[in-house]
Amino acid sequence: MKKRRKLATKKEIEAIKKLFLEHYPDSVTELNYKSLYELLVAVMLSAQCTDKRVNIITPALFEKYPTVEALSKANVDDVKELIKSCSFFNNKAKNMVAMAKMVMEEFGGEIPLDRDKLVKLPGVGQKTANVVMIEYAQAEYMAVDTHVFRVAHRLGLSNATTPKATEEDLVRKFKTDLPKLHQAMVLFGRYICKAIKPECDKCFLTEYCRTTDNFKPR
Ligand code: SF4
Repeated sequence: MKKRRKLATKKEIEAIKKLFLEHYPDSVTELNYKSLYELLVAVMLSAQCTDKRVNIITPALFEKYPTVEALSKANVDDVKELIKSCSFFNNKAKNMVAMAKMVMEEFGGEIPLDRDKLVKLPGVGQKTANVVMIEYAQAEYMAVDTHVFRVAHRLGLSNATTPKATEEDLVRKFKTDLPKLHQAMVLFGRYICKAIKPECDKCFLTEYCRTTDNFKPR
C-alpha cells in the first residue's frame, strides 16, 4: 500500500492560500462565453476536452444555436457534426439538446442560477454546476477537475481518492475565496504544476510541495 503523504498544516494552508490569491488575483475561466447559456454549454463541452478546443468549437455552435430555445429544437446529429472534434461528442450532443429541452419545459426557458437545480439538467454533474456557479455568480464553491486534483495532492491539501472528497477537503480547509482559489489552482495546474514535467523552476510554492508525483482522480 502506498504511503500517505503528510498533509499541510493549518499554517501551511494559510500560506498556500495567500500565495495563490497573490499570484492569481483576478483570474477567470479561459472559456469564451457571452451569456449563462453559452457558459453552461462551454463547460459541458469542456469535460475531458481542453478549453482551447472548446473555444474553437463554440463560435459556429453559438452562431447556429444562439439561444437555449434554438438548441432545444436542434437535431442531435447536426449538433454532433458541429462538436465532433471534442471528446465524447455523441453523448455531449445528446445531453446538450436534452438540457435545452428541459430548460424550456421545466424552467420557463431560463437556465437556473442555482446549483441544486443545475444538477437536475441532463449532462450537468456537480463539477459542471459548480464551475458555472463559480464563474457566473462568484459562488463560494470549489470544483475539482484534473488540475485541481493534482495540485491539491502535490501540496498536501488532500489525500482523498475522489474529486468529490477532494472538493470537500478544499472547501473545509480554505473556507473563503473559493472562486478565486479554484481559478488559481486550475491555471497553476495547467501552466506550471503540469501533470508531466511540472515547471518547478517557475513555482512559487516549492516550500510546500510534497511530491512531483502525478495524481489522477478515480
Ligand atoms: S514544486 Fe513543482 S510539483 Fe511541486 S507544486 Fe510546484 S510546480 Fe508543482
